[in-house]
Amino acid sequence: MGRPDAPAPPQGLRGTGVSARLFVITGPSGVGKGTLIARLLERCEGLALSTSATTRPPRPNERNGVEYHFLSDEEFDRMAAAGELIEHATYAGRRYGTPRAEVEPRLERGTSVVLEIEVQGARQIRRTVPDAVQVFVAPPSPETLRERLVGRATDSPAEIERRLRVAEEELGARSEFAHVVVNDDLERATDELVELVRRSLSGGAQAATRRREGG
Ligand code: ADP
Ligand code: 5GP
Repeated sequence: MGRPDAPAPPQGLRGTGVSARLFVITGPSGVGKGTLIARLLERCEGLALSTSATTRPPRPNERNGVEYHFLSDEEFDRMAAAGELIEHATYAGRRYGTPRAEVEPRLERGTSVVLEIEVQGARQIRRTVPDAVQVFVAPPSPETLRERLVGRATDSPAEIERRLRVAEEELGARSEFAHVVVNDDLERATDELVELVRRSLSGGAQAATRRREGG
């Protein structure tokens, strides 16, 4: 049984609308989504991070099934066609998607799930899972993204340029999101994200979102 004020289950995804929530963390590459989520998971119990599927090649330190499920284009196509991905998008020439199997069983068990996805995927989830809590992570300035991507040293200069081109468009999506966390100081931004998640899990952020949307 869910809480008495639990929202109605959304269409297309089993397991939401009970006591567990789906959290979507989005924002441009290099803004610090992964860093913030790792800190969030350390501080909030009962949250699980979904492992995405992708057709991009693994970086040297990445393991199949841990950071991503690394798939061929054919495998990705098959999953998408079979309805095994709850959203998917092409980003900087590669495909990324959220496996249903990463999300539904956990929500059904009452475990909240965090998705770290780009903006097109976040838009799909907004339509199919309207009760998901969506957070856009924004940089303190657009120049920060280049500095952080160069500092991270995981992508070639050409790949960094591709990501920055996508980021220009993604930054324009900020106003679509009910919650925006500016990742300026890492401690401060982590505190804000943790607070938002805790409030959502106790029902508060959803009410705040409804008020903002005039609902
Ligand atoms: P994303 O997952 O959004 O692509 P990452 O979490 O990989 O971004 O962060 C990109 C780089 O920026 C990493 O090297 C990370 O250590 C650094 N970083 C993240 N947050 C901050 C911050 N608030 N201040 C300075 N550097 C940061
Ligand atoms: P990266 O190649 O840096 O790991 O990820 C590139 C972008 O793809 C990031 O913005 C990341 O959030 C996004 N991404 C990762 N997994 C998914 C997914 O399952 N779906 C979507 N739509 N985007 C994803």
